[in-house]
Amino acid sequence: MNQQKSYVFLQKQILLLLILSLVPGLAYIGLGWMSGVVMPALVWYSLNVLVSLWGWQLYKRYQLEQMDRAEIKSWYQKLTIFYYIIFGLWTVIFLLYAGEVESKLHYIAIFTQLGASVVASALLISERKLFIPVLWILMLPLIVYFALIGEWYGYILSLFSMIYLGVLLYASNNSNKMMQKNYYYAQHDALTNLYNRRYFSDFMDQLIKRIKVSKKYAYILLIDLDHFKTINDSLGHDVGDKLLQAVAKRIGNFCKETHTVARLGGDEFVIVSPEYKNEMLCMEIRESFTEKLLAILKEPYVIDKHHLYISASIGVNKLTSASEDASQFMKEADIAMYEAKSNGRDGIILFNKGLATRAERYLEIERNLYFALEHEEIKLHYQPQFDREERIIGCEVLVRWENSELGSVTPIEFIVIAEKTGLIIELGNYILEEAFKTLQDWDDKGIVLEQFSINISVRQFFHSSFLADVEHLCEKYLNKNTRKKIIFEVTETLLIEDIGKIVAIMEKLKYLGISLSMDDFGTGYSSLGYLREMPIDELKIDRSFVGHLGKEASDELMITTILSMAKIFDLKVVAEGVETEEQFNFLVENGCDIFQGFYFSKVLTKEAFEKKVS
Ligand code: C2E
Ligand code: MG
Ligand code: MG
Repeated sequence: MNQQKSYVFLQKQILLLLILSLVPGLAYIGLGWMSGVVMPALVWYSLNVLVSLWGWQLYKRYQLEQMDRAEIKSWYQKLTIFYYIIFGLWTVIFLLYAGEVESKLHYIAIFTQLGASVVASALLISERKLFIPVLWILMLPLIVYFALIGEWYGYILSLFSMIYLGVLLYASNNSNKMMQKNYYYAQHDALTNLYNRRYFSDFMDQLIKRIKVSKKYAYILLIDLDHFKTINDSLGHDVGDKLLQAVAKRIGNFCKETHTVARLGGDEFVIVSPEYKNEMLCMEIRESFTEKLLAILKEPYVIDKHHLYISASIGVNKLTSASEDASQFMKEADIAMYEAKSNGRDGIILFNKGLATRAERYLEIERNLYFALEHEEIKLHYQPQFDREERIIGCEVLVRWENSELGSVTPIEFIVIAEKTGLIIELGNYILEEAFKTLQDWDDKGIVLEQFSINISVRQFFHSSFLADVEHLCEKYLNKNTRKKIIFEVTETLLIEDIGKIVAIMEKLKYLGISLSMDDFGTGYSSLGYLREMPIDELKIDRSFVGHLGKEASDELMITTILSMAKIFDLKVVAEGVETEEQFNFLVENGCDIFQGFYFSKVLTKEAFEKKVS
């Protein structure tokens, strides 16, 4: 049985046992007085009272919320001794009265002993360590007593007593096993045998209450495996399950008895440390513990002949007497874990208040973003692109969001959130539609651009309806001529998917007349291999390289390399983030074709752009 539950059960039995000892105990003094053994009976009863007082203290002292593991263990040891002694005292009364044959006290002694064994097997059922020895303490004297009578009926009674002891032990054992099993399944996760969410949440409630009183410290680790879903999806749930079991086993072996480990569901695990008096010590131990744990989790797994490598994102939170309720505390650990995920996974983040503020802003953005389209808060802006002669030849569409509550939110912030929530599909479609309308409108007005770039996010690119939506919008708003001006800017993060799938989508876009540009080039994988495979028309040198021109030699080298690579693959190159004349000159000298940046123009509204070109 779960220990705490078993302890609560045993604690409750103390009171019952005290009543059963002290009240009938009085009758035994009377019986002793009648049979001339009052003094031993009085001594026995006094002992009984003393032991009962101790039992009462133990009953009062057990306060789960305030006791840590070590204290509970020591309490339990005392409780065990108390139970042995109090039942032992009933064997003493048996030994005292069993010899009183003439006054017939021996009948009472025998009955008492049988009664005490029934009481013991009923009250101590939750702990084998208790009821087995106590039943022996009670029944063995009876078995011996009957055998010592030396008559045939004595031997039979002795044999019966043995059988009776056997039955009691067998029945108690069975009930105990069933109890254990029920409790075990109610509190453990069937796949990994770790504690489950239900147990964990009870445990946390108690821990928080306890730490409020004890003013101690503890830390918890919330562990989420990285890319577990990919393994599950690609190798099947069987392998996924075995991997979870292997991970659970590693965590369990590493944590030993000192930590509490639970699986909260899926690939999420939680570890709670022991309680420490010293905050510094707690945090030092946490640091080395977490790092070692992550290293152990990352060692390769061999499952059904697959060699699997998996890392984890770990959110850590420190529990102090100031900690709020369990759900708030876990939410904070969750925020830290998500931060570890968004920092590129495979890492450890300790929760802090700054994270909470960011998480709140994240939620606010998420909440408001749902209504942003409806409230017409999303606007398209345009940044002109220039050729070597500084003539406008095109533009990039950049989205802007003004919200009454949040002010202006940059796309860097909200596009990621839109991607995570899936809103990017609706938002992306809106941007495409507005952008297409603008391009056609300008073309009709005689504002003739060579190219018109629109950013496409990864999730949008791979969405099942993307191609159909693009085709539909092309037909609705663009003619054959304007279609050819459209460039979709994608980033190297596309490579999370299979190259074959990427190329297939790109080919279909090209079939519609749309060109492709690799945005932020140089910041990601930048492998020659994929440049050859993908039907890309243009590279955009990331603005971070352009910004460092003249400061970092390595960035100059990066730019010249990109430009010569582009020549080999026959690609146009756009330099973004051009802010100075020096940068522009350097780029021109090295053969760059198109330029975009604050040196030429900032990002403009539709009207401002129209004014600028006319
Ligand atoms: P990006 O596609 O690389 O866009 C270029 C970013 O550089 C824009 O930031 C632009 O305002 C900024 N920029 C332009 N010239 C200069 C300059 O001279 N110096 C500096 N320091 N920056 C310059 P913005 O508008 O904040 O957009 C940030 C990112 O958000 C974009 O990076 C793009 O990845 C994403 N984004 C913007 N609009 C959209 C959109 O409509 N759809 C999608 N999916 N993503 C978008
Ligand atoms: Mg872009
Ligand atoms: Mg860019």
